[in-house]
Amino acid sequence: MKSVLFQEQRSTLFLKGNEVQFFENRSEMLSEFEQMHAASPGRSDAAVVVAMVQETLRDLDLSPPVDHNIVASYRGVLRIDYADHVWAGYIAPAPYDAGLVISVRSSDPWGRQRFTIFHEVLHTYMQGFYLQPQYRCEPGARPVGTEHDPELEALCDQGAAEMLMPREAFLADLEGNSLNLTLVDDLADRYEASRAATASRICALSPSKTLYVSFSEMSTPRDPFSPPKLRVESCFSRGDWSYVPRFKSVKPGGVFDRAWNGELVDETVYLDELTRNPLGWAHVSARRSDYVSSEGVQMRVKALITQIDSVGRRGAS
Ligand SMILES: [Zn+2]
Repeated sequence: MKSVLFQEQRSTLFLKGNEVQFFENRSEMLSEFEQMHAASPGRSDAAVVVAMVQETLRDLDLSPPVDHNIVASYRGVLRIDYADHVWAGYIAPAPYDAGLVISVRSSDPWGRQRFTIFHEVLHTYMQGFYLQPQYRCEPGARPVGTEHDPELEALCDQGAAEMLMPREAFLADLEGNSLNLTLVDDLADRYEASRAATASRICALSPSKTLYVSFSEMSTPRDPFSPPKLRVESCFSRGDWSYVPRFKSVKPGGVFDRAWNGELVDETVYLDELTRNPLGWAHVSARRSDYVSSEGVQMRVKALITQIDSVGRRGAS
């Protein structure tokens, strides 16, 4: 295990095995991610991130719901602030090299705040985290002068999902259960995660092909003055299923239209309304979810869609 012997403004002394290494500045230090990568050549970046997170959870002997305060403290975070700012969160050095501070947006729901905290914690494993504050934010909300590395952010998101919903426990929870929105609710409560993050995790880890789609009523950018229709707003899949285009409108009288009109849909259908080529037989769990935001009442349809294989099995059911 590598340990810091001495640290000052421009130099750092490390003990690595029996060898003492000296670095002129922090930009030359190898992050834990890079060390682990070097120790296991050929492993993908995502696999390295998963292994790092699993090692941390093992070291701390944590099980779901994983306590973000313990993990953050273990990674050198002195304090987590809940503040009113435009970005979802950031991590920055505390004054006098005393450690790190994470700040999360106070108006975000609990599950989303926990994901943000774990995302920021993941930055502590990555190259360059100490060189500038790291922000997690919506497009356009990043402070001027800060850098954005989409690949790094995606890796931190993958690591955050792994900390929030560790795969071994999560897969055990999927076993024997039907994949539907009730299961999403139950697992979101168990892991103290948002419903969107939980549904995405199901899509990522489920042995069967699963999509999580959000629909809202809108016009298309190509025809902004046309009457709004219920259209695909976002879609999450494992990446090996057919592409569902954004702004695709739903079929009148179809499962998603019925959910928009208040029906709780939980049924098997031949699905041909979302993609150029039909998705085929699938189980659809869909319902309307209304919530209040600063812009008023927002209405959406959320759907978890699971492909049924040729012998009629679906999901982990
Ligand atoms: Zn980030």
